[in-house]
Amino acid sequence: TPPSGAPRPRLTFLGTGYLGATYAICFAELGYEVIGFDVDEAKIAKLAGGEVPFHEPGLNELLRKNLASRRLRFSTSYEEVAEFGDVHFVCVGTPQRANGMGADLCYVEAAVSELAPHLTRKALIVGKSTVPVGTAEWVEELVEKHAPAGLGVEVAWAPEFLQEGFAVEDVLRPNRIVFGAKSEWATGMLYAAHDGIFDLAVTEDREVPVVVTDFATAELVKVAANAFLATKISFINAMAEVCEAAGADVTQLSRAIGYDPRIGNRFLQAGLGFGGGCLPKDIRAFQARAQELGAGEALRFLHEVDLINQRRRQRVVQLAAELLGRKQGPAGPDLSKARIAVLGATFKPNSDDIRDAPSLAVAGMLARAGADVHVYDPQGMENARRALSDLTYETSMDDAVRGADLVCVLTEWADFRNADPVALGEIVGARRVIDGRNCLDPALWTSAGWQYRGMGRPRVE
Ligand code: NAD
Repeated sequence: TPPSGAPRPRLTFLGTGYLGATYAICFAELGYEVIGFDVDEAKIAKLAGGEVPFHEPGLNELLRKNLASRRLRFSTSYEEVAEFGDVHFVCVGTPQRANGMGADLCYVEAAVSELAPHLTRKALIVGKSTVPVGTAEWVEELVEKHAPAGLGVEVAWAPEFLQEGFAVEDVLRPNRIVFGAKSEWATGMLYAAHDGIFDLAVTEDREVPVVVTDFATAELVKVAANAFLATKISFINAMAEVCEAAGADVTQLSRAIGYDPRIGNRFLQAGLGFGGGCLPKDIRAFQARAQELGAGEALRFLHEVDLINQRRRQRVVQLAAELLGRKQGPAGPDLSKARIAVLGATFKPNSDDIRDAPSLAVAGMLARAGADVHVYDPQGMENARRALSDLTYETSMDDAVRGADLVCVLTEWADFRNADPVALGEIVGARRVIDGRNCLDPALWTSAGWQYRGMGRPRVE
């Protein structure tokens, strides 16, 4: 049990993207006084005006409630944040470098070295962003260099495991918390800064396991977890490839092996593979860092994990050619004059995040093969249009599928899972469907007259 009763520290979150905004809002909800800070003025203006700049279930309501409570503010001023906060959480992006597999730490560097000179008292800077092992030590050096001498500012690391689409629940009720800290003072501050989570757990008769460890282990926990999850998905997708060759059904295979509790059925659904702003870049950055450390061989399998994942995207294009009766040329199939409906643009349902989304990547591949691609997504249209402007975006599922020669369901939104194959069958040009997420019932679709293709499942006419 953490020490309690001490006054709660005031918290700031540097970077109000998916991670930082969710945290700022949820920690205000837990009773902390909070400032969310970003260099993106438009984002801060939206948040301060009561509008979450991205789609995350339940977050808008909590934002408005906590703005009204005055526990939550937003700012673009480093001075204000430095003056206010006792604990500063670094939640900025750590994208893949433009010229390699490693993580680009320029935003971490900017946030820390621009905040530090404005600090006026001892404070704790806590990294939450996903970073290569060794970053926390480097952040300590940045603080040493840029903070006024003699304040004793300390650094800690608390990696984050939230999943988009479940972010509010994951922040308020995490399945574990990891603290990387070097001193008792830092550990105490970390506990105090998470008191609200522990208090909530007590009132709900739950426990939140805490692992207190060193910097390097804390940093590695996050990338190790993501490497494992990516591997689990690619494992079942590799089985899907074998099932395709053998005429077997990977959905039944995964159900059967998932009953073994050592394997478990979660994250074991074969489909179009993983994407998003985390798994792909994290497994690449992990390999790059391991190589720098001379441990590259240990993570060579992650290269295969990545390749298996990419091959699933090509598989959809292959299936499209097969269903449309098009020949494979040396540069892939020619899909010209085919009208294809792509349902789904986000990397997963209940999110508007299109970063490295397999669905949108496939939409682009189909368009490059000559198809006339019509996309619909319940939440991701604005982001998708910005990322891939030369596709046609429709305002409803019906508009997207109307007259289509082929329908591809590439993100498993409930609207698509529950779509009525009879009604859709009446407005398409031809009843052909690719279920890129194995989220449709093949019997239902085939009985409505559709040719159905899933991922790693036998063909059904
Ligand atoms: P994001 O791109 O949505 O947000 C990053 C934010 O940082 C942007 O709003 C950007 O304007 C801001 N920023 C850039 N420079 C800044 C600076 N100097 N000071 C303050 N703000 C600055 O990214 P995200 O998805 O929130 O991810 C952030 C980090 O959290 C990454 O390291 C990511 O790997 C990690 N993470 C993300 C998730 C997730 O589900 N999104 C989950 C766990 C961990």
